[in-house]
Amino acid sequence: MDYLPLFFNLKGQQALLIGGGQVALRKARLLTRAGCQVTVVSHQINDELQALLDSHPGCESIIGEYHTALLAEKALVIAATSDDELNERVSLDARDQNVPVNVVDSPALCTFVFPAIVDRSPVVIGISSGGKSPVLARMTRAKIETLFPQRYAKLGELASKFRDQVKAKFRTISQRRNFWERTLEGQIAEKVFAGRQEEAEQLLQKTLDGADRDHQSGEVYLVGAGPGDPELLTFKALRLMQQADVVFYDRLVSKEVLDLCRRDAELVYVGKARDDHAVPQEGINQLLVKHAQLGKRVLRLKGGDPFIFGRGGEELQELKAHNIPFQVVPGITAASACSTYAGIPLTHRNHAQSVKFVTGQLKNRTADLNFEELAHDNQTVVFYMGLHTLPVLTERLVQHGKPAETPVAIVSRGTQPDQKVLTGTLANIVERQEKAKLPAPSLVIVGEVVDLHHQLAWFGEETTPLS
Ligand code: SAH
Repeated sequence: MDYLPLFFNLKGQQALLIGGGQVALRKARLLTRAGCQVTVVSHQINDELQALLDSHPGCESIIGEYHTALLAEKALVIAATSDDELNERVSLDARDQNVPVNVVDSPALCTFVFPAIVDRSPVVIGISSGGKSPVLARMTRAKIETLFPQRYAKLGELASKFRDQVKAKFRTISQRRNFWERTLEGQIAEKVFAGRQEEAEQLLQKTLDGADRDHQSGEVYLVGAGPGDPELLTFKALRLMQQADVVFYDRLVSKEVLDLCRRDAELVYVGKARDDHAVPQEGINQLLVKHAQLGKRVLRLKGGDPFIFGRGGEELQELKAHNIPFQVVPGITAASACSTYAGIPLTHRNHAQSVKFVTGQLKNRTADLNFEELAHDNQTVVFYMGLHTLPVLTERLVQHGKPAETPVAIVSRGTQPDQKVLTGTLANIVERQEKAKLPAPSLVIVGEVVDLHHQLAWFGEETTPLS
């Protein structure tokens, strides 16, 4: 980090601004918005700037030369002139006297820089590229602007109005934070965003009156983390990840995704690779219940979608039995992610009118799957957890009438930078995989649509089948 972002309280403080043109005007506007008293010194001061100073008590203009004595008592100084020599002199003087200094467009002469600002006061967001790329900072600002409804400011007003009441009611910081996080999202926030401020206030008051300060129960968020690429998370997943006190995550959750969880959340790995169940399923269920009962917001983060071969249902049943509130967020499941990132449409008007998601984990190696049905034409069959049982799966499909030349793809570590795709047929994919040894997690796709991969592949590396 090249610069530390700080928020200065400049109310009633004095600043010196050297320069009287458009750039100086923009800085003067910012400073006065923060309640700062600005002294502008310049040989010429434009009318708009003069009018701004006139309308803010404590601000003044000096027509004339900058000199060092003007730095006395100043909280900060800004040089916004086109005179390089003068700018440099101001910078040196200010550093000499330990007054924070900004020289517009000259990062080397600055001890602080102005960020691009998204102002939803009381929420203010500053974005900086440390002077390296102001355009990038502004583009980032534009993106962030779109994330916050304009009425976000109103939500801040609401919080500010009830702050003391909430503080009096809840003893600990964590109880207060819990209350606010529940309040500033969902129903109350939606009312504010819809312009129904009064209703929102009534509801907040009611919630506050009814809140039991000692028995705030926690909540569990069962969230699908998608296949690995963090950009495939949903907004909702990200929002809940940012709120969690404790996170229980699987092996399939990528590091990049995990990095997006709240910084001070406790991260707990609970498995499970095929033969490594760091914590058995019953243990995970109990952990979720236990932590929620302690009043925590518990994030259960699962690879892909929690309801597709994720045992998410079992975890929720346990929560339900203990009356613990929960939310579930779908994730992009491996079948969807791997097929798109491999350029294999799962359905296609000419090749497949349906698709089946099937577990390849077989109970007694001879399989309890309905292979007769899986061998039908005009469908795509996707096997999760099918890498280790590939010989059985392919053999059974052929035995049940699926042509041996049916195309098959293995997509390994789908959507990750090291994604690999191996193609072949029911007859030779086992042999090809024995040579290629693509690592888990891998998904197996069987059907005519696999041929489209050779035309539509757009991501990652091709694994040339060795024949
Ligand atoms: N709930 C998950 C699936 C869990 S089962 C989901 O919806 O995706 C685990 C299996 O998913 C793995 O054995 C593998 O077959 C598949 N899988 C998950 N992530 C994958 C990835 N990034 N690339 C390839 N296969 C993946």
